[in-house]
Amino acid sequence: MAVMITEECINCDACAPECPVAAILADDSDRNPHEGERFYVKPESCVECVGHADTPRCAEACPTEGSIVWDLPFVVDFTDYYADGNETGAYKIREHKKKGLMLPTVKAQPFMDEITLDIRQARANVLDSF
Ligand code: SF4
Ligand code: SF4
Repeated sequence: MAVMITEECINCDACAPECPVAAILADDSDRNPHEGERFYVKPESCVECVGHADTPRCAEACPTEGSIVWDLPFVVDFTDYYADGNETGAYKIREHKKKGLMLPTVKAQPFMDEITLDIRQARANVLDSF
């Protein structure tokens, strides 16, 4: 990831159309591990809006404080974190026919390097960083 959508989400759909890489799934998607509960950011797709905007567009659009928070960078150092999250159902990483599970070892994603690990591990509200 990237960013993460929390239980604060009210399923308003303000964020998904704003994402430049279509990384956000609605609550009715069967590719969403939280189907029937809340929207979901695909960590294997989210680029933290690097190269698209100065601030994550989803967070800018979201009306609900605490609904979009930081997650860990989707890079090789955190492969185990994402693999474990996929096992426990926190994530639903895409399975590629030939490449297998699209973990950071297969394809890492850009991230905002000015956001510290402390901020990310605290799951801080994204907009509070700007
Ligand atoms: S941070 Fe940017 S790329 Fe990531 S889900 Fe939000 S809008 Fe999409
Ligand atoms: S904009 Fe915020 S509250 Fe609305 S669906 Fe997206 S994360 Fe949920």
